[in-house]
Amino acid sequence: MAEISRSQHADGNSAALAPRPVASAQGIRNVISVDVEDYFHAESFADVVQRSDWEGCSSRVEANTRRLLDLFAQLKVHATFFVLGWVGERHPELLRQIAAGGHELACHSYWHRLIYQLSPAEFREDTRKAKEVIEQAAGQGVCGYRAPTYSIVSNSLWALEVLADLGFTYDSSIFPIHHDRYGIPDAPRFPFRFSTPSGSIVEYPITTFRMGGHNLPVAGGGYLRLLPWSYTRIGMRRAQREGLPVIAYVHPWEIDPDQPRLPGRLISRLRHYTNLGKVHGRLTKMLRGETFTSFRESGLAQIVQEVDFHG
Ligand SMILES: [Zn+2]
Repeated sequence: MAEISRSQHADGNSAALAPRPVASAQGIRNVISVDVEDYFHAESFADVVQRSDWEGCSSRVEANTRRLLDLFAQLKVHATFFVLGWVGERHPELLRQIAAGGHELACHSYWHRLIYQLSPAEFREDTRKAKEVIEQAAGQGVCGYRAPTYSIVSNSLWALEVLADLGFTYDSSIFPIHHDRYGIPDAPRFPFRFSTPSGSIVEYPITTFRMGGHNLPVAGGGYLRLLPWSYTRIGMRRAQREGLPVIAYVHPWEIDPDQPRLPGRLISRLRHYTNLGKVHGRLTKMLRGETFTSFRESGLAQIVQEVDFHG
């Protein structure tokens, strides 16, 4: 597991890895990001929808992403859109529209495969192809990456070297929590620089807050959707009090209560279909209550810390 510090406090927070005080983070904004994929790309249904089935599914990603673009335009918010290469190849006009709205295009892989199930060579080829597709469609360079299902974990940190080598300057895939499919619970919780033999890359971990000696996730995906709004509000406030930016994320299918229902395990259906009708309202409330923008415009680069973290 990660060896991050020699001096751990009793609650698991290390002094060396504690975020800087809020004062130094003043003027730093929060980030809203969208993982642009369709409802049938979700890992929850990977056991019932094969990649060869994707072409035959009725796509809703374009309409749902346009609803998010409308909301962001209405609220004058810029966002970072991590686009699945498979989607980008089929909807180039949507990518051009995202770019024209002043948003940042970034990469969410091509095939939405878990990185820790790939070889470095397979990961490199998937990422290279996705980056090329998105850049060609959008007409803008891509320098940010988010792994499918946050699958950069302790034994797939090698992916960061591949990303640096392919020209990515930042990644936002590490979730410093315990979870059945992802997470590096003892990774730094604040923006940090990760050194690799191919150069360094900045990591923007997904937001967590501390409670009862644990890192708890907040402000994204299922956590925004399944848990009460009060949890999100309190968690965001606690993270910000520590000087952490909120890095929020949402999927286009999460604002679509009318999407076709897929068969699957009960737990998958509960995770995917609960509260789909609430996300648009909660997202609006979240974006109205705080200043959110894209990674590109966030200024977060100013608070990136140098740490000795090797997983
Ligand atoms: Zn995804």
